[in-house]
Amino acid sequence: MIRKLLVLSFCYTLLLVGCAPRQSSNSKGETDATPVDVAVTQTSDGTKDFAKAKILVVYFSRTGEQYNVGVIRTGNTAIVAKMIANYLKADLYEVKTEKNTHYSTSYDPLTTQAKKEQQGNQRPAFLKPAPKLNDYDVVFFGAPVWWGDWPMIMYTIFESTDLQGKTLVPFCTHEGSGMSGLDVKLKKQYPKCDVLTGLALTGSEAQKKRDQTQEKVVNWLEDIGFTQAEANAQSNEPEPVKADEEETESAENVDTLVEITETVANEELNMSKEAFDKVNVFGQGTLNEKYAQFFIGNSYLNPLTDAEVPIQLVNVTFEPGCRNNWHIHHAKKGGGQILICTAGEGWYQAEGEDPVELKPGKVVFIPAGVKHWHGAKKDSWFSHIALEAPGEETSNEWLEPVDDQQYNALP
Ligand code: MN
Repeated sequence: MIRKLLVLSFCYTLLLVGCAPRQSSNSKGETDATPVDVAVTQTSDGTKDFAKAKILVVYFSRTGEQYNVGVIRTGNTAIVAKMIANYLKADLYEVKTEKNTHYSTSYDPLTTQAKKEQQGNQRPAFLKPAPKLNDYDVVFFGAPVWWGDWPMIMYTIFESTDLQGKTLVPFCTHEGSGMSGLDVKLKKQYPKCDVLTGLALTGSEAQKKRDQTQEKVVNWLEDIGFTQAEANAQSNEPEPVKADEEETESAENVDTLVEITETVANEELNMSKEAFDKVNVFGQGTLNEKYAQFFIGNSYLNPLTDAEVPIQLVNVTFEPGCRNNWHIHHAKKGGGQILICTAGEGWYQAEGEDPVELKPGKVVFIPAGVKHWHGAKKDSWFSHIALEAPGEETSNEWLEPVDDQQYNALP
């Protein structure tokens, strides 16, 4: 699959933080006070030997619109996480939000949301089941840097279990902020853990320069005392995670944990935002702030007719997962609403009826008085032109949101 990415000129600054080889950032005193991990042994030169350690790579990553990268299907941090797991034959666990529409796939709303979560010191719920982190000797934690910190959902993970005595390794992707103290914050969370030197890579590099990224990941792992897992030892060349094989899991033992996440709806977008923009010929317009309270997710409005035109046409664009609340277009006579589907894929549902799939070219008439909702599919952008049918004493009544469980059950 060839993906077009918005390639912006950018000075690739690789920030390999620290690089103190084979050295932990922990103090001796603290290490001695913790339980001895028999799988992680000290070698004669005082470095650690992880050959027999049980290793888990935990990461949070997101697809959708990314700063300096464009719209992506595999998250930047996910790429790095898979490289680590592949090289060490470690287990892999992706942290996902409990609700798959929790974070916006658009960049700007996401940054606002992330800031809000950080300011409120929130703990967004993650999707269960999660593996038992405590069963591992070494846990890698990876995430994008959001506002100079771990995304708040990582703290939900950190606090979900007691990892004291384990060896922890942070890694992150960013667009210029470097490690931003994520390693220090992890250490603060687990003062009695050995927190090894982390790796910070730019997200754009991870996306676009896979071979270079692979090399940096391997060099870093070896610097902090890890060696390539034995199953791979016959080949000196690491197996690169190629851009066109984004979902290939080459580590066999990754499979068991991947299964955990396979029950989740596929978050991949059917169409990239860039491709969607090209077919969204009536234009996305601006963020629909006025009615945002009646929508789940972000929607955008582009008025197509001037104010003096007797019938108003508006192109409404829904981000993936976005839909409006149940509502009724009331009218004493006539009225109702016509939806003319223009781009992407979505749903319309009238109360008591099955949902109707919406695709470009589909026209739906919603009679006045019918309780209904409309919006995007969970993994697709969607646009329709909305037209209020002329009537007498027309009004709109907004009701409850569409139930998450019901919506997420739709394909
Ligand atoms: Mn409607």
